[in-house]
Amino acid sequence: MENCIFCKIVAGEIPASKIYEDSEVIAFLDISQATKGHTLVVPKKHVRNVLEMSEEMASQLFSPIPKIARALKKVTSASGLNIINNNETIAGQTVFHAHIHLLPRYNKEDGLAIHFTEHDPNFEELGLLAGNIQKEIQA
Ligand code: AMP
Ligand code: ZN
Repeated sequence: MENCIFCKIVAGEIPASKIYEDSEVIAFLDISQATKGHTLVVPKKHVRNVLEMSEEMASQLFSPIPKIARALKKVTSASGLNIINNNETIAGQTVFHAHIHLLPRYNKEDGLAIHFTEHDPNFEELGLLAGNIQKEIQA
């Protein structure tokens, strides 16, 4: 797609620190390096995000992730690794060509802070919501 920075990287029109490539997927170091080794795994074909992906594209995109993650963790001597994917602006997406962030983790002050606010469960509401989502998936 025209004016898409990741399409330009896939086409070799702008440089990237590439670490992996197969027929459908490319992975390169994120320019911002939120933590050392921060990597983006990107489908070669332009798609906006996971919400617009086919099952086939999703399986092609996700299947190399374990081996890339293991290599990243080993080479950086990280203690662990977060996998993050942002879909739409409200969720933090800024580049609208799908990508999965792999973020090696070193310690609690390594530059990445993820916080979940916990709420007391309302089991009636959870049951209703789960039922509605199940129906939508099967529709
Ligand atoms: P997101 O906010 O999830 O859409 O993530 C977009 C990511 O793309 C950010 O972490 C940017 O640092 C990264 N990024 C933008 N331009 C480039 C580029 N030319 N090469 C590598 N990473 C990039
Ligand atoms: Zn693109």
